[in-house]
Amino acid sequence: MIFKTLYIYNLKFKNMKYLAFITIAILMNACNASKTKTVGNNVDANSKDASVKYANSITAKDLKKHLYIYAGDEMEGRMTGSKGQKMAVEYLRDFYKDHDIPSPIESLNYLQPVPASYFKRVKDPKDSENVVAFIKGSEFPDEVIVLSAHLDHVGMDKDGNVFNGADDDGSGTVALLEMAEAFKKAVKDGKGPKRSILFLHVTAEELGLYGSAYYTDNPIFPLANTVVNLNTDMIGRIDPDKEETPNYIYLIGSDKLSQELHDVSEAVAAKYSSGLELDYTYNDENDPNRFYYRSDHYNFAKNNVPIIFYFNGVHADYHKITDTPDKIEYELMEKRTRLIFHTAWEIANRDGRITADKL
Ligand SMILES: [Zn+2]
Repeated sequence: MIFKTLYIYNLKFKNMKYLAFITIAILMNACNASKTKTVGNNVDANSKDASVKYANSITAKDLKKHLYIYAGDEMEGRMTGSKGQKMAVEYLRDFYKDHDIPSPIESLNYLQPVPASYFKRVKDPKDSENVVAFIKGSEFPDEVIVLSAHLDHVGMDKDGNVFNGADDDGSGTVALLEMAEAFKKAVKDGKGPKRSILFLHVTAEELGLYGSAYYTDNPIFPLANTVVNLNTDMIGRIDPDKEETPNYIYLIGSDKLSQELHDVSEAVAAKYSSGLELDYTYNDENDPNRFYYRSDHYNFAKNNVPIIFYFNGVHADYHKITDTPDKIEYELMEKRTRLIFHTAWEIANRDGRITADKL
């Protein structure tokens, strides 16, 4: 999750025209805004048993194991282009290699290079890379679901203290690894997804959502065939406002471009989420935090790809050296990751492709 001031700065220069367009769109849609909504069960019944089995392979224990390494001091806060960020990339690549989950294009060898020249407003930019892994769909291989999380964070302070970024976005990163492993287990059992899944770990989010912008400018699979982007950025902590009711996840953007996506997401949660509340507080266009514009899904949304952003809200350790792995709520993170997995599973396996029906 990018700082609000930085995001406004970037938006100003990058998206002036789009901002005007969005403002009009927001005004036009204002009366359609809904905070919570219950819908009927429209989840494909056939998907049930299998998805539960594989979702259950996503465990608090495994998430914790990965996160203590990924957000450990050795990674030096994963600043874009730094030694620590390269180590983080190697950790991800090794994971996909070890689990026999291929690179989408062999010659890429799991890395989509993002040249320093792309980081236009960054002082002393360095070459970086997105990490990509791929599971090919069995029936509709050209239709791609992108699961994303940002691999970078903000590095170290001048005294050498590490910004571990356990929640931001170590949590989303290791959630992606666990979801990839679950999908791979299904493939091994002959129950692989009907549509393809791209696991996209983007760089330079904290500097201005650059890695995801680079991907959408240079997509490995055409954006017209990109069904949905489910973006996970910060899912391991509890918002102080939710301390009394911590069994929640904030969903942002699910109804912006596709009512169908929103309805499927709600139906999946009703069926599989074991009481996890979907909270739409920050989906409100009038919310001053403007989170919809502050993580990587936004680059997909602005290209008309329906998105859902999964988020726990900010907390006292947000962008501080105290965002450490010992503070993560692993059981809750397991629930949240399983929900995202079930949603991806349903979108990948249902008969019809989700469309941007609100465009
Ligand atoms: Zn952040």
